[in-house]
Amino acid sequence: MAKTKVVCSQCGKPAIVQYGDIWLCVDCNLKFQQAEQIRYSRSISRQNYLAYQIELAASLPIGMLGRVPAPQSPFQGNTFTLT
Ligand SMILES: [Zn+2]
Repeated sequence: MAKTKVVCSQCGKPAIVQYGDIWLCVDCNLKFQQAEQIRYSRSISRQNYLAYQIELAASLPIGMLGRVPAPQSPFQGNTFTLT
């Protein structure tokens, strides 16, 4: 029985990962992950902004409600040595 090759639903390259009914290749999965990271960062920024606005409206000390730390890039702090 021949093995069926799964292809990316966005570009037709060989797929590596599945989200529900959607298969993605390495490149499209990277784009998807980057888009999700941007969306998540925006969500945190908005949440922190709203906390600031609540503090202002209620005359609370700025920072009293706390803030969500910004997510760190998975690539920060990595160093590579080429020999
Ligand atoms: Zn693709």
